[in-house]
Amino acid sequence: MSAPNRNYDPVEVTTLSADAVERATSEALAAISAAATLEELKEARLAHAGDKAPLSLARAEIGALPPQARADAGRRVGAAIAQVRDALTARQEQLERERDEQVLITERVDVTLPYDRLPAGARHPVSMLADKLSDVFVAMGYEVAEGPEVEAEWYNFDALNFLPDHPAREMQDTLFVAAPEDAPPGTRSGLVMRTHTSPVQIRSLLTRPLPLYVVSPGKVYRNEALDATHLPVFYQIECLAVDEGLTMADLRGAIQAFVDALFGTGLRTRLRPDYFPFTEPSADVSMECHVCRTESTKPGADPCRVCRSQGWIEIAGCGMVNPRVLVACGIDPDRYSGFAFGLGIERSLMLANGINEIRDTYDGDVRFSRAFGMEI
Ligand SMILES: [Zn+2]
Repeated sequence: MSAPNRNYDPVEVTTLSADAVERATSEALAAISAAATLEELKEARLAHAGDKAPLSLARAEIGALPPQARADAGRRVGAAIAQVRDALTARQEQLERERDEQVLITERVDVTLPYDRLPAGARHPVSMLADKLSDVFVAMGYEVAEGPEVEAEWYNFDALNFLPDHPAREMQDTLFVAAPEDAPPGTRSGLVMRTHTSPVQIRSLLTRPLPLYVVSPGKVYRNEALDATHLPVFYQIECLAVDEGLTMADLRGAIQAFVDALFGTGLRTRLRPDYFPFTEPSADVSMECHVCRTESTKPGADPCRVCRSQGWIEIAGCGMVNPRVLVACGIDPDRYSGFAFGLGIERSLMLANGINEIRDTYDGDVRFSRAFGMEI
């Protein structure tokens, strides 16, 4: 037994009435076109095309209609839903386009505006030259060696053949490190601020195997007043070679290679006798003036500021390692010989770049660094 098959009138299902579908459609279209932002459009989509939207509910009702009414209702509701969907898509595209245009306007970058990024900082010209000089030696097969700036007197003086009463100790205006406060009166700390990089030679000779080729750049200290040509703290670089059969000729060759690398080839070098406790014989090294190439010494020639018309510039001290230094380090001076030479880095920087005031290398004024063309 089944219930009587009563005739179904679609008008009775109010959500499916032609008026209701038309009203829901026009409300949906009005809400879509009124949405001014993508957020508002999202709300309109939820209200008029979501699961609870009138048209969605109407579509759900279609299944309950008798077969003869389904096709007609399906067509009407389907067309309305498609119309709303197309309107949503069109509005979505329009709002996205407007948003993108707005971004282009508000986030536009004017590349012609002057930049104001913070300076990244720069390496100091003295550090850069120290590296460059070290590289010259490293290319010749030397190793870089470093040592402490607070140094034992033994390394700084005794092992380098400065006798206890040697005038050179005073000559160098040493900064002695004070003994601890609780030490008995008259006690010495035995420590100094190193007056040269030569103690690194001793440390290398004591710790590294022979043959030995080292270059040591570093900061040194002197008890000197700051003036146009003197600094109490400055940088030196020196090289040391100890091997079997080394002679003055090897020293000359190393010096010439060094000057060639730094100033370009073609500048002559010369050695003149000098005195250092740790080398014997000792010499000072001069090179032909890289600016006037000795032209300024000729009669009637223009004067040269760099060499003061002398034609030659003193650049370094050098010599053959004193056998006493080798003995102090336990090395047989009958079998091994060595050479060393050293120079001041600030002074080399001044020479190479025509700087007259050594204090410029010390002040830390960024305009000085900038003149060397480094990234700031
Ligand atoms: Zn000159």
